[in-house]
Amino acid sequence: MTTGHALIIGGSLGGLFAAHFLRAAGWRVDVFERSSDDLAGRGAGLGTHEALARVLRRLGIGADMELGVHTPYYVWFDAGGKPALKLDRPRVMTAWAWLYRPLKDALPAQYYHPAKTFVSAEQDANGVTAIFADGARVRGDLLVAADGPRSTVRPQMLPDSKPEYAGYVAWRGLTPEAEVAAAERKLLFTSNAFSIPGGELALAYPVPGRDGDLREGRRDYNIVWYRPTDTAALADMNTDAAGRRHEQIPPPLIRPDVIAAVKADARALLARSIADVFVRAERPIFQAIHDFASPQIAFGRIALLGDAAFVARPHVGAGVTKAALDAACLADALADNASIVAALAVYNDARRRAGDWVVSRSREFGACVNAAVSRSGMSAEQENERSERVFRENADLHIEVREWAKDAV
Ligand SMILES: Cc1cc2nc3c(=O)[nH]c(=O)nc-3n(C[C@H](O)[C@H](O)[C@H](O)COP(=O)(O)OP(=O)(O)OC[C@H]3O[C@@H](n4cnc5c(N)ncnc54)[C@H](O)[C@@H]3O)c2cc1C
Repeated sequence: MTTGHALIIGGSLGGLFAAHFLRAAGWRVDVFERSSDDLAGRGAGLGTHEALARVLRRLGIGADMELGVHTPYYVWFDAGGKPALKLDRPRVMTAWAWLYRPLKDALPAQYYHPAKTFVSAEQDANGVTAIFADGARVRGDLLVAADGPRSTVRPQMLPDSKPEYAGYVAWRGLTPEAEVAAAERKLLFTSNAFSIPGGELALAYPVPGRDGDLREGRRDYNIVWYRPTDTAALADMNTDAAGRRHEQIPPPLIRPDVIAAVKADARALLARSIADVFVRAERPIFQAIHDFASPQIAFGRIALLGDAAFVARPHVGAGVTKAALDAACLADALADNASIVAALAVYNDARRRAGDWVVSRSREFGACVNAAVSRSGMSAEQENERSERVFRENADLHIEVREWAKDAV
């Protein structure tokens, strides 16, 4: 069994899970988060899994994973825009903040350091030192990199570790329930709805409203629309009205003509019920989809965790669950081994398998978002056949994730 002082870089869900599991295993922790804001206001909907509920129970943290918007069905809209197939697949969409808030509140404030930007790390046989943008140097026994998909720690360990663009973007539109046509509300607010035109994929579901409001009429409707986008088109979308090019354009700077174009495409391509809601979203935003699988996640006294270790496309919807299970595995490995380096080697083997699974499954699912299919000129019958198959696979995916995560805690 090893204990000591852990420096955790990143104070989102991965970092908070790591902090709680390590504290429970007798470690002193300090969490360093670059952002000075409370992160709770920035999350959206989050699909829940039993494994996540089990992790929280093990930590003794009260977060009711059953609390959220219940959707008993998956619904597929065919090429003609009709709800052509309805499957019983109950899910609960909770709010990201409902997980973040109890985790953050349960960590004594003196261990959480906002507005602290990690820059580099140095390690030797006796410890590891984190160096911050303000010049501070903090010494510890273990450094946990929970600093997300654009990790600053990871490239220091793996210099060629840049996540790769998957060739498509995810547009997201969030529309208040009150703006969804009354005739459509019952179906849309009880389902995960799919419209799959050509090589594109749109899924849509209700989420708790602002401030987590679950009352009818106060919820929101969330549409995620995956669209093949070549690098030239992406570069143009990432260029603001002043002509400045961004790696990922901040949402308020997305040009009005880019938003007008995607809304026009929604009308032309998506099932009418979903398109009607998407065009009412005040400010749709987009994010380029990337992925990356780390060949190694432990380096002496430094461990990569959560999205810093593996960047998966969002299709599998298991990012939070994977981060929680990474943290549990890390604490267990430290408890079971006589040295930190030996424990991290065990962690490396166990969690690389999980990360590889999430990344490779999400690549397989993402393969349906495909520019070649968009251009192939399928007949309506062929398109329906293909999109029904994609829908059925997606409808069963969360069952697969549940099985994958079942025995990990
Ligand atoms: C604000 C926010 C909202 C999210 N909303 C959702 C959602 O609605 N649904 C969903 O499924 N997933 C959401 N996610 C992603 C989901 O939380 C992750 O898949 C999961 O939590 C595992 O991520 P992570 O903690 O490893 O990384 P992340 O959640 O990306 O967190 C990484 C953290 O590290 C910090 N950081 C980065 N670089 C540095 C540095 N150099 N020094 C110090 N700190 C640094 C970042 O500010 C960030 O808080 C959200 C993430 C964030 C940050």
